[in-house]
Amino acid sequence: MSDVMSVRLHLSGVGVRGVLVDSVDRLEVEVESSREWSRCPHCGFRCRKVWDRRAKRVRDLEVSGRRTTLVWRRRRFECGNCGERHLEDHAQFQRGLTRRFARRLVKDARVMSIRAVARHHGMGWHRIMGLVRAHSAEVAQRRRARPTRVLLVDETSIRRRHRYVTVVACGDTGEVLAMIPGRTKASLARFFRDQGPDWCRQVETVVSDGSRSYQAAISQYLPDARHVLDRFHVARWFTEGLTQVRREIQRRDPERRPPTYEPDLFRARFTLLRRADHLSDAHQAHLDRLFEAHPRLLTAWEALQELYRIYEADDLDGANEALGHFADLYATGQIPEYHQVVDTIIAWGEEILAYHPSRRASNGPLEGINNLLQVLRRVAHGFTNYGNYAARGLLVT
Ligand SMILES: [Zn+2]
Repeated sequence: MSDVMSVRLHLSGVGVRGVLVDSVDRLEVEVESSREWSRCPHCGFRCRKVWDRRAKRVRDLEVSGRRTTLVWRRRRFECGNCGERHLEDHAQFQRGLTRRFARRLVKDARVMSIRAVARHHGMGWHRIMGLVRAHSAEVAQRRRARPTRVLLVDETSIRRRHRYVTVVACGDTGEVLAMIPGRTKASLARFFRDQGPDWCRQVETVVSDGSRSYQAAISQYLPDARHVLDRFHVARWFTEGLTQVRREIQRRDPERRPPTYEPDLFRARFTLLRRADHLSDAHQAHLDRLFEAHPRLLTAWEALQELYRIYEADDLDGANEALGHFADLYATGQIPEYHQVVDTIIAWGEEILAYHPSRRASNGPLEGINNLLQVLRRVAHGFTNYGNYAARGLLVT
């Protein structure tokens, strides 16, 4: 019985009866429940009369590198009240696995492909995926039951630029709440409907990219929430104006095909988009040289810096002031390339300026989640099945 002791199951409510197989690579232990009764599923009576026993194999964590199976002497009880018979359940055993082993498999699936997990434990791919999906559904249900004050919405894809998926996350905890197929109004609307009106009413702030589809769903289902346009998406729009001005100026000979560029200006294409307070002395000197040669470039650069200041400002007043400075620069007529930026500001002004009153809410946490999803896609060697991607994607946070 020393072997039995060395197994040290550490499973509460489980007693060891004996060791059946004890070889180099395999360990089989016979176990039974230490509880004396089982509740009748038909009438609720506490049954103590055992009708018979059946051996049920349950996989457990490896013991010193050996594959371990518990042979559970599962009892069938006969009810002393209604006479029906039933097989007992045990909290530690589910679907032929101990709970701790199931947890371990799900954990492995976070960092390995399902195929690798299945191979490592000598199990079937579908069995592992089924466990992951069941676990993911439980986690999702728990997360989605809690109130969310700040909601983050963004899109990602199953493969690069293929088959889009809407990711919804909680800004308070940084956890993924759902991954929904598609990026239409209907995709997001379905999430809000599933969550129900009570849950929706608790959302104070929602951050999204500049998608009209998302906006439509948000205004319909979260009419009282403050809708903030994600600053990283807005910054990308803002830089478009300056990029167009640069392209226009750097073209030396527009008639020639392919057109020739002024190399010094082209080299500054990334430096130009930086925030003024993030520039090194060398970069600043480079820009000053360019501005001297091209005054219009300076105006365009100053306009972009004012746009950045909308976000860098301490409060809404500061943001409005920066916006005013930008409008003055645009009004000079020197930078017509900014007309699209102006259109964007007119169309989305409310959502852009909601940034300050919402205590600077942004999709920053979603950028981190997107990186984790990218790692997951690489680990899994890509996904073809949307449901599997959604189940595993939810577990990256
Ligand atoms: Zn009964």
